[in-house]
Amino acid sequence: MQLPRVDGFPAPLPSHAGAQLPLSFVKRVFRVHVGAEGLVIRSLHLFDRIRDLGVRLLSWVGILRQGTISGSQLARPQEFCLLRQFIKRVVGAVRGLAHPFLFLQPLHDRPLQGLGHQSLGFLDLGQLPHRAPLLRESKGNPLSPASLGDRKWETNDARAAGRGGQKDGFDFDFIVIGSGFGGSVAAHRLVEKGYRVAVMEMGRRWAPDNLPHTSWSIHRWFWRPRLGLRGFFNMRFFRHATIFHGCAVGGGSITYASTLLPPGDKVWESGSWTGLADWKTEMPRHYATAARMLGITENKILGPADHLLQRAAEVSGVEHTYYCTKVGIFQPAAGVPGQTFPDPFFGGDGPARSACIACGGCMMGCRYGAKNTLDLNYLYLAEKHGAHVFPETKVVDVRPLDGASDGSTGYEVRTVKSTAWMQRQPRRFTCRAVVFSASSLGTMELLFHLKEKRSLPAISSELGQHVRTNSESLIGARTPGYSQDLSQGIAIGSGIYIDEHTHIEAVRYPAGSDTMGFLTTILTDGRPGPRRIALWLKNVLGSLLRRPFQTVRVLQPRGWAKEFVILLCMQALEGEIEMRWQRPWFWPFHKFLVSRGEKVPTYIPKANEFAKKFAQLTGGFAMSMLPEILFDVPGTAHCIGGCVIADSPAHGVVDARHRVFGYKNMYVCDGSVVAANLGVNPSLTITALAERAMSFIPPAQWMTWDNGAQQGGELSSDLSETTS
Ligand SMILES: Cc1cc2nc3c(=O)[nH]c(=O)nc-3n(C[C@H](O)[C@H](O)[C@H](O)COP(=O)(O)OP(=O)(O)OC[C@H]3O[C@@H](n4cnc5c(N)ncnc54)[C@H](O)[C@@H]3O)c2cc1C
Ligand code: SF4
Repeated sequence: MQLPRVDGFPAPLPSHAGAQLPLSFVKRVFRVHVGAEGLVIRSLHLFDRIRDLGVRLLSWVGILRQGTISGSQLARPQEFCLLRQFIKRVVGAVRGLAHPFLFLQPLHDRPLQGLGHQSLGFLDLGQLPHRAPLLRESKGNPLSPASLGDRKWETNDARAAGRGGQKDGFDFDFIVIGSGFGGSVAAHRLVEKGYRVAVMEMGRRWAPDNLPHTSWSIHRWFWRPRLGLRGFFNMRFFRHATIFHGCAVGGGSITYASTLLPPGDKVWESGSWTGLADWKTEMPRHYATAARMLGITENKILGPADHLLQRAAEVSGVEHTYYCTKVGIFQPAAGVPGQTFPDPFFGGDGPARSACIACGGCMMGCRYGAKNTLDLNYLYLAEKHGAHVFPETKVVDVRPLDGASDGSTGYEVRTVKSTAWMQRQPRRFTCRAVVFSASSLGTMELLFHLKEKRSLPAISSELGQHVRTNSESLIGARTPGYSQDLSQGIAIGSGIYIDEHTHIEAVRYPAGSDTMGFLTTILTDGRPGPRRIALWLKNVLGSLLRRPFQTVRVLQPRGWAKEFVILLCMQALEGEIEMRWQRPWFWPFHKFLVSRGEKVPTYIPKANEFAKKFAQLTGGFAMSMLPEILFDVPGTAHCIGGCVIADSPAHGVVDARHRVFGYKNMYVCDGSVVAANLGVNPSLTITALAERAMSFIPPAQWMTWDNGAQQGGELSSDLSETTS
């Protein structure tokens, strides 16, 4: 059977695999669809068929049951609808996990570019679109700068073939590794200063129409490419913390809750950066630039969860500390939710935006173009003005080019395709300078690996020291059958301080995103360890005896997002862990990051007391996170440090201008440089620090390419200013 010819696609990509599958087979396994956008492989047919069969069977049973009860056609019983939904979700999750076993690239909603031009009858595996961008990523997507015209950049293979090449022999002036807060600022400011910039990003590019609707789409939410999960959210498990982080073009901004708060002045007086610069004088202007670029506004959309937080603050006597969060979300003063406006932030240079509709889905990725993610501000502008973003491209090696071990003659950067299972497409790029912006965990991991394999042996042995997790604890309250939908609002709409050090924010997930419900359980106090587990069992049993139906209801995940308010508790107390590069006992074949040091407390008594008061207000249940009780491991989305700013390599990895000790023209710009516990969400500080670091890099025409780290501090930042 032949697929119809579709014209209008670019020429076929060169074949990589050489293997061919009969199209009749492909059509049996996948659901192939020909739409206005071309040929699209929608999903695996096989699993759809199993699902359809299950659903049909259930419909049949449902109808039979109705018929027996009344002998007439009744509305479907609710349980039947629930069961049907459950089956759909389970099949969806299995389908996500099944990808690698079919040894193909991610197929969901990917147009098969180039297929229209081949003689049909066989599908060439090499033509599957693992190099082609999603159509909506490029031409069709008004939000994507990729739609702005032809890319000037060619592969370095093409250059090697003799077509072009740069005069100085380097592919790029700067290669930025990672496109999160630090990386996007670096890319934008460097392009502005006239440099040729590439951004290597391990994650995928996302747009409003390919983001998951709920967290049940696990394969589009989680990032675990080896398991076929190619989303944007990752969880890493360590002995001392479970660390949540983002992985996408736009880094953590795709999944973050967009709360952007400056820390108190005290943070500049603790940690290894103390006294290295006049931080208190310098930083306010960089915070102001960051705030303008990220479009910070005071949240005007208060949902039921925010009102509950305010009432709980009153009951606890801390109502004066209640505040509406500062967020990077487009909330225009006039207009209706969902209304589209021409670029409201960059005088027409940025993309059109839509007003927030208060769906609570910020952490599942904003599907309405209302959250100010980096691909709509810094990275958008960087790409628009010439930066080349390489999605799904993981950096695996960085080493000085021959001749100078300190990198003064440039670097080679090696990459592989992060989402490929077998054909990893290794590539080599050369550049004058490198900016590591792979996040605290990502940069530590990469630098440890490069130090170990002697690509960058001079990296300070302080690497991995002073890692901080904001001393966080996640608690909450669930109220089954609450009169209002607690998922309404923005992800983090308000906060309070229950004491000088302890800060609590009301957090929510969008309706339907109930998977986190598997991790919540009845609130349990007590010191970590077996006693706490015993206490938890006692609490659960006690609750089952007192309120059996309601307890069962709160322990199952369905409806969780609509009934649950997460209370994110952060403490600005000193406390740090260490990351090492070691072989774990259970897998001695490979080295990994492992955590060491004092455990961060998972039990914050005052926070638990507050959760109880909160739950009393609604008649619900105060809840804890199950992993915190069972394993005494706190969860955190705010991992910082590991390559901290310091006066010398004996105390940190970079100097006060983010230059790496031991190398020339090498920088770190991400959360790993933060040298103190901020006590608030860190993205604004990471952005402001990156702005400051970039302000020291001169415009391209003045660059001498001799920029090395300086030991000791410096008290002036007047070398150059950011240009916008
Ligand atoms: C669910 C959630 C909610 C959050 N909410 C908030 C909030 O409301 N406010 C706030 O301030 N913070 C929040 N955070 C934290 C925030 O996302 C991070 O602090 C921030 O993104 C860190 O910025 P960064 O520049 O250090 O790195 P990131 O933004 O994490 O970007 C690093 C990028 O580097 C890429 N990368 C890593 N290794 C490589 C490699 N080898 N090659 C190529 N690319 C690589 C990664 O894929 C990633 O995209 C939240 C985080 C999560 C997970
Ligand atoms: S609440 Fe919904 S519309 Fe508003 S920013 Fe978050 S995800 Fe986007």
